[in-house]
Amino acid sequence: MDPETPPPPAPPIQTIRVWADTVSRGHVATCRDRRCKEPLWFAKTCANDRAMPFDGEIKPVSTDTEPGTGRPIWVVDRRRVHFGNCPGARRFRK
Ligand SMILES: [Zn+2]
Repeated sequence: MDPETPPPPAPPIQTIRVWADTVSRGHVATCRDRRCKEPLWFAKTCANDRAMPFDGEIKPVSTDTEPGTGRPIWVVDRRRVHFGNCPGARRFRK
């Protein structure tokens, strides 16, 4: 590979902002769908404070803080949200 050529830019990823202090430390649940049974980690979204399930351990792609309070925020890859990956995803939508 030509070292002069910069790598192509990574496609932008969709992200979701969660409160860092709500991120679970270990997997706290197993998906109830019989075909899935994925271990799930949870964090609450900054948007509406609802707990969202994630596939695998939650890791931030970047971090931020809420203006004013300084509360830490993790910016997480939205593809890790379990809703999009679960074969029984409809079950989550109430
Ligand atoms: Zn599932």
